[in-house]
Amino acid sequence: MLNVSKIKTDFPIFTKHQDLVYLDSAATSQTPERVLSAMDAYYRENRANTHRGAYPLAVRASKLYETSRAEVARFICAETDEIIFTAGATHAANMLVRSLEETLTLGRSNAIVVSVMEHHSIFVPLKQLAKKYKCDFRVILLGADGNLDKDEAVRMIDGAAKIVAITSISNVSGNKNDTHFFSGLAEKAGAVFIVDAAQQAGHNPLSVRETGADFLFFSGHKMCGPTGIGVLWGKKERLLELKPGYFGGGAVEEVTERETRFLPPPARFEPGTPNIAGAIGLAEACRYLSETDIENIREHSRDLAKKTISALKEIPGVTIYGGEGIVSFSLDGVPAHDVAEILVRENIAVRAGHHCAEPYVRALGFPALTRASFYLYNDERDVEKLVEGIKKVVQIFSVNASA
Ligand code: PMP
Repeated sequence: MLNVSKIKTDFPIFTKHQDLVYLDSAATSQTPERVLSAMDAYYRENRANTHRGAYPLAVRASKLYETSRAEVARFICAETDEIIFTAGATHAANMLVRSLEETLTLGRSNAIVVSVMEHHSIFVPLKQLAKKYKCDFRVILLGADGNLDKDEAVRMIDGAAKIVAITSISNVSGNKNDTHFFSGLAEKAGAVFIVDAAQQAGHNPLSVRETGADFLFFSGHKMCGPTGIGVLWGKKERLLELKPGYFGGGAVEEVTERETRFLPPPARFEPGTPNIAGAIGLAEACRYLSETDIENIREHSRDLAKKTISALKEIPGVTIYGGEGIVSFSLDGVPAHDVAEILVRENIAVRAGHHCAEPYVRALGFPALTRASFYLYNDERDVEKLVEGIKKVVQIFSVNASA
């Protein structure tokens, strides 16, 4: 059980906006005071660039950056040098795709396989890659039960497949995918297996090797960390094979006019000055979430989602897609954006649209859905207010329809 009223006091936003019903953590979470303080301390007391100076400030900044890497690694049960800091999930996905382009030999006889649930951050770069190399771009669709169609996956992930990408939890429906099943198919096919864990990290326990991924990525801002920081994780043996796709200082061992020798991972993949304060903030978020207990956070968010779903089921004309802490819904005859706008009048923050997963939302049969997402600082009162708000929306539209 989480002590939500105590947890709320950890987040300054709820002191500033006391009536706010914040149900948009799947887009971005709020930030605890201690994450802000950790970043502030870097700027006020320890600011210097990393890895480039012998003076005490530079040594301290480097140490803070590297201990942050170790903390993040611990949080996802990885090894420290398997963690590459990026600017976020989208940056990590694009960086990985660029590196895979450098590393793999792709052509007409190859296929790239994604699921229809993928977020645009990985769907689009892989689609572009397939287009460039004339690879077959295959999309695993939904089965009758609304999960990814495993029979179709077996057919699609064949010897031609070079890259397979599956999201671990959908940001639209909260659907949790059996990544292990897909990783087995990818391994048999000799394909690289990528997992998007942007909705899992910090919300669900995450042990990277258990996902079966070769590479996995997520963002800091969805898990109480700052914006502008994310992680690309790669299995050590895969990272050693992977060629860099971006170049610059800090990533190289030796540069001559004839040759460039790269540092080993992770430095090889982090050219330029990193987001030092961001990494420090993300590490502090990992500590905070571990102390609060991820398993409890998951149960709490799931429970609130379940309560929302059972209350919404009572409303006629509602279609619901819900799972791990996320509930998306559509009300017959009411555009999704209108739902969100009317809820704003009640100080309820939800999101409407295709949630950057347009193929999935369309496969569900809608141009847009309204989404409420829960996290550790939400409580049952938030659920009640949301449900009351949605009832008001229905009332407004039925009055208008009969007028
Ligand atoms: N994947 C999923 C499942 C997401 O929900 C998001 C963010 N909505 C992303 C990737 C991209 O994250 P970012 O915008 O932080 O790069």
